Amino acid sequence: MSTTIGKLFDLTVKKYPNKEALFDVRRNRRYTYKEWSENVNQLANALIKEGVRKGDRVSTYLFNNEEIATAVFACAKIGAVINPINFRLMSEEVAYILDDAKPKVVLFEQALASTITSIENRYPHISFWFIDDQTPSYAANYQEKIKTEPATLEDYHIEESDIYAIMYTSGTTGRPKGVIHRHREIVEQSLIIISATKLHANDHGLVTAPMFHCAELHCALIPRIHVGARNTILHQFNASQVLQLIEQEKITKFFAAPTMWNMLLQEDLKKYKLDSLALGLYGAAPMAPTLVRACHEKLGISLVQAYGMTEMGPAISFLLENDQLTKAGSAGQACLNHDIRIVKPNEHGPSDPDDIVPIGETGEIIVQGPCMMSGYFERDEATENALYKGWYHSGDIGYLDEDGYLWVKDRVDDMIISGGENIYPREVEDVLYEHSGVLDVAVIGSPNEHWGETVIAFVVKKDPNVTEADLDEWCKNSDHLANFKRPRKYIFCDVLPRNASGKIQKFLLREELNEKSQNI
Ligand code: ATP
Repeated sequence: MSTTIGKLFDLTVKKYPNKEALFDVRRNRRYTYKEWSENVNQLANALIKEGVRKGDRVSTYLFNNEEIATAVFACAKIGAVINPINFRLMSEEVAYILDDAKPKVVLFEQALASTITSIENRYPHISFWFIDDQTPSYAANYQEKIKTEPATLEDYHIEESDIYAIMYTSGTTGRPKGVIHRHREIVEQSLIIISATKLHANDHGLVTAPMFHCAELHCALIPRIHVGARNTILHQFNASQVLQLIEQEKITKFFAAPTMWNMLLQEDLKKYKLDSLALGLYGAAPMAPTLVRACHEKLGISLVQAYGMTEMGPAISFLLENDQLTKAGSAGQACLNHDIRIVKPNEHGPSDPDDIVPIGETGEIIVQGPCMMSGYFERDEATENALYKGWYHSGDIGYLDEDGYLWVKDRVDDMIISGGENIYPREVEDVLYEHSGVLDVAVIGSPNEHWGETVIAFVVKKDPNVTEADLDEWCKNSDHLANFKRPRKYIFCDVLPRNASGKIQKFLLREELNEKSQNI
């Protein structure tokens, strides 16, 4: 018998019917697994009534709400394909995804309504359902749709090889692409996360990162539901509210992107009782070793790092608790049943999986594993390149050390070449993060006639008195930074542009630099 995302949900409901499953903080609503399952079935029946059938897409354009989780399982049970859209996208970006994914139904909310109302008349075939019950006048109100539907659901015979989701990549390297995942790939991912983070039914997780992103959905929420743990859903990340909820709900484990950990550490931690917290999961973007150390020292918790990408479900490697300090800066070892190779990059096409570089040498990270995507939605050429010879080509540069630990240097596209030397921005960023006057930093290359590119650092100050000369002196004295890697210019700013999963949008910094038309 096959296992699907819908089946794992039903098995948990059967095992823990009266246990609290969800607490939606914004609405102050709590559900047991049985109550939640009735909502899931009602939504599934409402979607069927709307004409949604196996393979049809259902999009959500929502902040973190119980309805995303409900829609994930409702779709899974009827074979519809969930397509969570990034709530930060603006109207034309949302339109790009609607044109691409062609959903039958879109769920959205009050706070994002202006985006939808500005484009919805272009999509007469899409049914837009408004989830907030405060505005019952909206034509297709979600509550109205589901409330008269039965709370039981017939068996739609969904197979593990059926498509479960289309998740769009964050587009840090180009237009977002729809990553297709089948049920079995994400069930496998869930099992891998359960074992790495030692999840069990007594855990209580907090949803803080965006649920539309696979890091939160597949590395935290689905595995917790798989084991029957409790879940508190926070509408949007807010550092002091996260800390309050950890104390109030006795949260044991949660995922947060590096930038969120950084924000938590800026709070007055002594004000909160955080002793329920057992483990923090971080990933989706690089986290400087200083920040990892600060989390250990100030929060006193164990940490697990996940490294991966949407296309792989996402996690492909973990840096487990015991390795956090001894292998600080590494992305850890391959996840169960995953094979990671470092191969010689090919400038003219996908790198050859058999062109393996020796241990310790840098190259492109490629990977095989049970959670690998089936392909990009309606993009055969991009799929062929990404999955060339059965290996997913990550576009990240890194190396494997003698103990089998992966070290991610950077993205192929972010590497700076100055005077013929390769510079990985991350190593410069890691050195600057160590300076006590630095809160946040991003390093990029700026075109330069003489050197090809020079190193520029965008810095958010922690200490307002820190100067360019201080930071230059710091880099000069670092044992980790050769002279040619030292930034030649510092640009101080209030905040760095990040996408919803916490990645710095370096293309925006390059554009900013371009506008200033500096040639340093
Ligand atoms: P696009 O492909 O459209 O540019 P994206 O790659 O940003 O989008 P994601 O799948 O969200 O979309 O991000 C994957 C990338 O995030 C990885 O390839 C890697 O560069 C980075 N990343 C993820 N986890 C980590 C980590 N633990 N450490 C360092 N980098 C990470």
